[in-house]
Amino acid sequence: MSSRVPRSVGQAVDSAVVGGGPAGLSAAIYLARYNRQVLVFDTGQGRSTHHQVNHNYLGFPDGVATVDLRKLAAEQLGNYPNARIVRHRVTDIEGNAEGGFVLHAQGHTWQARTLVLATGVLDHFPHFPGWQSYVGHSMFWCITCDGYENRGRSILVVGHTDAAAGEAMQLHSLTDRVRLLTNSRSDDISPLFRRRLDAAGIQVVHDRIKEAEGRDGTLRAIVTRDGLRLELDALFSIQGATPETQLARQLGVHLSPTGYIAVDTEQKTSITGVYAAGDATSLHSHQVTAAVHEGAQAASAANYFLYPPELRAD
Ligand SMILES: Cc1cc2nc3c(=O)[nH]c(=O)nc-3n(C[C@H](O)[C@H](O)[C@H](O)COP(=O)(O)OP(=O)(O)OC[C@H]3O[C@@H](n4cnc5c(N)ncnc54)[C@H](O)[C@@H]3O)c2cc1C
Repeated sequence: MSSRVPRSVGQAVDSAVVGGGPAGLSAAIYLARYNRQVLVFDTGQGRSTHHQVNHNYLGFPDGVATVDLRKLAAEQLGNYPNARIVRHRVTDIEGNAEGGFVLHAQGHTWQARTLVLATGVLDHFPHFPGWQSYVGHSMFWCITCDGYENRGRSILVVGHTDAAAGEAMQLHSLTDRVRLLTNSRSDDISPLFRRRLDAAGIQVVHDRIKEAEGRDGTLRAIVTRDGLRLELDALFSIQGATPETQLARQLGVHLSPTGYIAVDTEQKTSITGVYAAGDATSLHSHQVTAAVHEGAQAASAANYFLYPPELRAD
């Protein structure tokens, strides 16, 4: 182990972390504190780059904006000369733990002895003019995150599946002003959930979103293609998310049946020397708390892997 990250391309670092959200930054801080040379690659476009305030992360009584949490974590990482953030997209990774991993990012090549994949997911928010400005202010996807602040408010759930119907039912326990907009002409809602929605008095609208009315991140109404104007205080998008697994698949890492990166309790993947953390690893528990925990766990496992033989118990 040496204490500084090599500046030149071609020297192998101990660990490369792909993704600079809560999972990746947590992994990097732990690795840095194990005195490992660590590079974090990040394009700054994940779930933690929207406008949301986390009200359920320990230690912040008034909540903390996720972008601020990222800034604080990057500042924390900056205390370690053996760690560095590279603002590049990693497009390809090849190799293995025996010969080392090779990462390709924006025309450059980097080498690492271990990898932590913390690439997150891509949310399928409804796309209408200006949609990004509402995410985290009045457009959400997660009742655990943002249900409480929306008690008693007028909520439009957007989605066409049982998952959307289920979310509408759960939100109905927080407010009696819930409607479901399929954002499609037809839906995949089962007869069972249809009956449940009917029993709860939740209106289902079959139409697509044309545009939104609102300002400064606050939605006022959704206008549909058929010209309906649906007033609302908050929109919960239940249109799913796709895990960012392209690099994992390139390496031959096993995915779970739901398409997420399969890991064990130490965040080890099916490939020796490759670890994964955060939202990319499971369909559920998409929370900052879980991401930070998994990042720390992945770093500890990678650090153990890097031990010289005389320090290992196995
Ligand atoms: C509107 C909203 C509200 C939320 N509210 C809460 C809340 O109240 N409480 C809570 O706990 N959680 C909340 N979440 C969820 C939380 O933000 C996520 O669980 C968390 O960000 C996951 O962290 P992560 O590091 O796994 O992924 P992300 O935060 O998505 O970070 C992944 C990073 O990897 C980078 N990346 C991906 N691929 C590459 C590549 N090939 N090369 C380089 N970089 C790459 C991305 O640019 C991104 O910066 C909310 C999310 C949203 C969208």
